[in-house]
Amino acid sequence: MITTKQAIAKYGTPNEHGTYLTSIQLPYPMRLAWDLNTTVKTMRCHRLVADKFKAVFTDLLAYYGYEKIKELGIDLFGGCFNFRAMRGGSDWSRHSWGIAIDLDPLRNKLKESKRTARFARPEYKPMIDIFYKHGFVSLGVEKDYDWMHFEIRE
Ligand SMILES: [Zn+2]
Repeated sequence: MITTKQAIAKYGTPNEHGTYLTSIQLPYPMRLAWDLNTTVKTMRCHRLVADKFKAVFTDLLAYYGYEKIKELGIDLFGGCFNFRAMRGGSDWSRHSWGIAIDLDPLRNKLKESKRTARFARPEYKPMIDIFYKHGFVSLGVEKDYDWMHFEIRE
């Protein structure tokens, strides 16, 4: 997983304005996890990982199809860029660079383990594999907490 030092070297020093961000078109609409009636068709992320995120969403759509994506809650967007400290720490959250994404946060809570987290179920294994294929890691797989969270490996 990427260290803060490595992240700064590669992606710059994070700032509240996100001067390193770009906006990508999503191949399917995502529902805001905190406001299910609102859907988004674009997402802001670091420009150096934009193509990787796009490849993930494109592969997810190709593998599952939109109906299944909705049924599984893979379209429940929990945030990408968010300038803030890491939960429970003084370090910057990987979201501060726009190099991490949270999905379905209400059913993959920070302190949930694989015993209860949705994304630990077998039907989500292909989703996780797709993230890994494009250079992301799952915190759930790596640490068995924060299963909502995927971030760039390097
Ligand atoms: Zn996260």
